[in-house]
Amino acid sequence: MLTHIKELFQGDVVGKFAYPAFNTINLETTLGIIAAAEEVGVPIILETSEGAIKYAGLTTMFEMMATLAVKAKVPIALHMDHGKDVEQLKQGIELGYSSAMIDHSQSTFEDNVRDTKELVEFAHAEGAWVQGEIGKIRGTEDWVSVSEAGALLTDPEEAELYVEATKVDTLACSFGTVHGIIKMNGEAEAHVDVNRIKEVYDRVKLPLVLHGASGVPEEVIAQAIANGIAIINIDTELRIAYSKALRQSLLDQPQEVDPRKIMKPVIEAVKNAAIIKLKQFKTQKIVSLN
Ligand SMILES: [Zn+2]
Repeated sequence: MLTHIKELFQGDVVGKFAYPAFNTINLETTLGIIAAAEEVGVPIILETSEGAIKYAGLTTMFEMMATLAVKAKVPIALHMDHGKDVEQLKQGIELGYSSAMIDHSQSTFEDNVRDTKELVEFAHAEGAWVQGEIGKIRGTEDWVSVSEAGALLTDPEEAELYVEATKVDTLACSFGTVHGIIKMNGEAEAHVDVNRIKEVYDRVKLPLVLHGASGVPEEVIAQAIANGIAIINIDTELRIAYSKALRQSLLDQPQEVDPRKIMKPVIEAVKNAAIIKLKQFKTQKIVSLN
């Protein structure tokens, strides 16, 4: 069933478990993710980045996800990930995404507050949630030294000021994780500053969002959840599962020309990778919804 993200936070979530926010870019990834959620029997967040929207189109992505979510046996909330373009975020909210992330964390604090406030006012009038970002989450392209990386982490006091000024509903912070694939190749450490998570949560009391968590050990994920992380974005691990399975499927069936048969093991691989995350995050059912 298609669900508003706020329904997922009706119960006792923060400190107990996290929802995965799975990035999707196409039909097969979406089918795999939803099959995982149905098998485990828990709600999830499905999200699209600006890259996915550029690839397939905003309306195409939204309608595809919404159609599948309506038919799904578990609650699914739709979210826009890392939006830099405020107008596109507004279009998405008008289409029916119940949550959108504005990522103007590269701007000055004042500009980030101003732009976030603009989106929050629009979103709240439409009944949608906004995820803000404060601090800079490193990406594959952002090579910085350890000391420089420390300076990018979210300052808890700044997080509190940002939340007070903008009235965002969920908050993405930089707790030391890195976006993308570099750490999966052992080229960067997947570090999480758990004390900082607790400091930020104690000040803002909002569901905190962890980005760039692929490759973070399970025990660290558990500590992050215990201290306030309630949404964890997942992208890289599903991409890896997808690509590996697709290569294998083509090798296994060199004569096959039916894409449905080629893609079947790919959907299965995405599903299995997503199930691992649902178990790691101990994602639970919401009593009021099930
Ligand atoms: Zn992110």
